[in-house]
Amino acid sequence: MPTSRRSFLAVAALTPFALGAAGRAGAAEACYDPAALSLSQKNLRRSLSYVEASADPKRHCGLCAFYTATSAGCGSCKMMSDNPVNSGGLCDSFAPKG
Ligand code: SF4
Repeated sequence: MPTSRRSFLAVAALTPFALGAAGRAGAAEACYDPAALSLSQKNLRRSLSYVEASADPKRHCGLCAFYTATSAGCGSCKMMSDNPVNSGGLCDSFAPKG
């Protein structure tokens, strides 16, 4: 059964990547449904280059002056018209809390 073994190995090798991608998508969905945002909100996020996961641990929504925590890992943002954001997110308007 070389084909079955090969298939098993291929699935086993890809599983961590698939789980990682699902985890990143889940971070946003735990706070809000990105698909349910209004068109203007989607455009605002795009214009401010908002991302769900900042690559810089010193620059993310949870450390931003415009952020108000609402639940674990989630909050609202003044720059986003008080709409929900991920505490690990980031946009071009980041301003560190004073
Ligand atoms: S201004 Fe940007 S970085 Fe700051 S909380 Fe809002 S979305 Fe996050």
